[in-house]
Amino acid sequence: MNNHSAELAEVFSSIQGEGGLIGLRQVFIRFRGCNLQCDYCDTPTGVSAEPCLMEQAPGRRDFVPVENPVPLHRILSLIEGWHRGWPGVHHSVSITGGEPLVSHEILQSWLPKLRILLPVYLETNGVMHTALDLLIDHIDMIGMDIKIPSTSGCTELWEDHRRFLRKASAKDVFVKVVVGEQTEDWEIERSAEIVSSVAGNIPFVLQPVTRRDGSVDIGPLRVLELQEIASRYVRECRVIPQTHKFMGQL
Ligand code: SF4
Repeated sequence: MNNHSAELAEVFSSIQGEGGLIGLRQVFIRFRGCNLQCDYCDTPTGVSAEPCLMEQAPGRRDFVPVENPVPLHRILSLIEGWHRGWPGVHHSVSITGGEPLVSHEILQSWLPKLRILLPVYLETNGVMHTALDLLIDHIDMIGMDIKIPSTSGCTELWEDHRRFLRKASAKDVFVKVVVGEQTEDWEIERSAEIVSSVAGNIPFVLQPVTRRDGSVDIGPLRVLELQEIASRYVRECRVIPQTHKFMGQL
């Protein structure tokens, strides 16, 4: 692999189903590999011999397998073709995973070229702050997670998240926390405190664990209670499930 080829899982066009850019049409570039192992993860994270599944027409789900690693020019010509055939459709390109910052060396050469075609939105687990340093000049928007133990199984990431958010706040950023029925008050207090310690006006999203059929793993009263707790710290706390699931989008 060189700096112009990346291990990818999928490239496709869809509606952003969660977080601050919800509802917008994006080109999704899903990188393989992750630095964490969350309990709820349904994303293939490891590098494997699997090809990348690449859509040919945007949103038509006419995937073809493309050998990994995928060269950058293949992605650029795909997006250029989508621009010609479907002008103005895509708001931005979502760099997602897995954890895309695991591929930060590749992204250093990819992002400036992708950004000529579309604004760059980074979806990240919000831990790899030194990798973010290398890329932040080439990013327009950041959606970062704060991983809480009750839903992710991850512990002790708090200070990494705080450092990451300090750096990410140089850009248009929001924070997302996945919550379930078992989520405890202190987890939301601690997450919201991290956000308010950086800037109280950073949008804060509580995302109920969302099943394939669109139902959520938290009761209506509990989610209101968690929103009330977060609102003591942050100016704007929204509750948004993963809407792409009940719309049949990817
Ligand atoms: S950070 Fe995302 S991709 Fe990585 S293990 Fe957690 S849910 Fe899966």
